[in-house]
Amino acid sequence: MAGIDPDFQSNRQKAGEHKGHAVWGPVEPPTKLGIHGSSTAVDFDLCVGDGACIDACPENVYEWFETPGHPASEKKADPVREESCIYCMACESVCPPVAIKITPR
Ligand code: SF4
Repeated sequence: MAGIDPDFQSNRQKAGEHKGHAVWGPVEPPTKLGIHGSSTAVDFDLCVGDGACIDACPENVYEWFETPGHPASEKKADPVREESCIYCMACESVCPPVAIKITPR
C-alpha cells in the first residue's frame, strides 16, 4: 500500500514552516499541502482526518488543523508539538492511509 515516502527528507524540498515544524513541498493550497513535520511527519495529502493518531498519542503531539478544500479531508492531524514525541510509534501504526513517518532524531 502506498503511504508517506519514508525518504521524503531527501526526496522533497523544505517549502516553509508551520507552527514550529517544517513543511516539505510541493505545496499548492488548497489541494496540495505537503508533509508537515520532520521527525514526526504527516503527509497532509494522504491524511484522511481519521484522528486515530490524535487518540493514540500519549504526548499530545497533534492538534487538528482545518484544511477546507483539500480532496482527502478537510482537517489534518498537525504535529504541533513535534519536539515532545517519544517515538513510541503508536500514531504510525494506527494511521489508516499510512500517512505518518516517525524518524527518531
Ligand atoms: S510516535 Fe508516539 S509520542 Fe510520537 S507523535 Fe506518535 S504517538 Fe505521539
